[in-house]
Amino acid sequence: MATSRLKNSTTVWRDLDALHHLHPFSDHKSLRASGARVIVRSDGPYIWDSEGNRILDGMAGLWTTNVGYGRAELAEAAREQMLELPFYNTFFKTTHPPVIALSQRLAELAPPHINQVFFGSSGSESNDTAIRLIRHYWALKGEPRRRIIISRKNAYHGSTIAAGSMGGMSHVHQHSYPVYEGFRHAMDPYWYGEGRDGESLEDFGIRAARDIEAEILAAGPENVAAVAAEPVQGAGGVKIPPSSYWPEVQRIVDTYGVLLLADEVITGFGRLGTWFASDHYGIRPNLITFAKGVTSGYLPLSGVLVDDRIGEALMGHDDDFHHGYTFAGHPVACAVALKNLEIMERERLVPRVAEYGAPALARLLDKFRNHPLVGEVRSVGMMGAIELVADKRTRRRFEEPGRVGLICRDHFFREGFIMRAVFDTMVCAPPFTWEDAQFDEAERVIRRALDLTLADVAEEITA
Ligand code: PMP
Repeated sequence: MATSRLKNSTTVWRDLDALHHLHPFSDHKSLRASGARVIVRSDGPYIWDSEGNRILDGMAGLWTTNVGYGRAELAEAAREQMLELPFYNTFFKTTHPPVIALSQRLAELAPPHINQVFFGSSGSESNDTAIRLIRHYWALKGEPRRRIIISRKNAYHGSTIAAGSMGGMSHVHQHSYPVYEGFRHAMDPYWYGEGRDGESLEDFGIRAARDIEAEILAAGPENVAAVAAEPVQGAGGVKIPPSSYWPEVQRIVDTYGVLLLADEVITGFGRLGTWFASDHYGIRPNLITFAKGVTSGYLPLSGVLVDDRIGEALMGHDDDFHHGYTFAGHPVACAVALKNLEIMERERLVPRVAEYGAPALARLLDKFRNHPLVGEVRSVGMMGAIELVADKRTRRRFEEPGRVGLICRDHFFREGFIMRAVFDTMVCAPPFTWEDAQFDEAERVIRRALDLTLADVAEEITA
């Protein structure tokens, strides 16, 4: 293998990476100048770089490796399936045991009204599928005018042109101008940033939900196909809705008869201590998109779970759904997903998130509430955020959003810890397997990294 020839050669790896590898969501000029960190191995909650540094992974890869690294059982499941049937498609009226077994298992885990699944390989693909399914559904129901999907500002639904247009990030829209038509964006339920003076959290939740209703009315309810939302905005900065928000959104979609798509690419498979965040918030989505945690990232696999209303519409018409991917229901990815779900169940990792991980993460973050740099800490399940501000009292932000976040992220890295910077909000999503030792280690490195960041930006702070 080419990689073994390069063993122990960080500089060579970096140079070759800079020459040939274009990274996602990166400033290629500065990345080329700084060089990428080369990650070479992993075990349990840790990864190692090519210089031998051990790093505690507070982001579970990218909200993904929920069972932790180094699970030999997953490698074994992949190996066995590769020898048995490494690939076959599901286009030619063909199917195979791993995809059948996984479909059945997902139907068991999903809310009771959801029983069917359409597979893909990435979260973006699953959302593209959902967009087409939603519009196809309304066409089958004789309401083809219903095409508009209401999403939210700062939502992240993926990077394909359709999923990127459904998402609400202006920097993602920038490259796909003109953005696909048919999406409108309501406000996100971000109390710390959008709450008004004197407004309670719960009142804010209702106001944020009603902004969705305002978008439905502005579009004309007869034109609206669906509301799409992450139960908790992840890449947008772990924005956790107040408890009043989701019941009101559910009321609104029910009132106008529009479909609800819950993008559970991050929250699916246990992150909030229930199999799906829809269970946690008591919502009844018609579609759930998932990816990441279904295989704990050991192989790419994604999908859209659909409810019986959509399933029956598809079964009730002799009409092709002109959509699908070569790797939909890839046998090896399905076999790994089944094993991953088996591990989660055997080790009771989902209840463990609710009983141990979620309170431990909340306690950890709470320790930094009074730090001079910290405006707010928040968490739900095992996803959390530390928001860095220039003035705690007024919530004044730093100039040049994202600069201080990157300073802090670099300190985390140097201290042997990963939290992601979303502008100046530091977000984390540890694997479900963290124990007291990892929470204690995280406390030490977060404190040190925050203090070092504070020293770097002391002059910009209003104490
Ligand atoms: N939806 C959500 C909520 C996500 O967080 C992501 C990725 N972080 C995606 C969709 C897109 O997934 P992918 O990168 O696998 O295409």
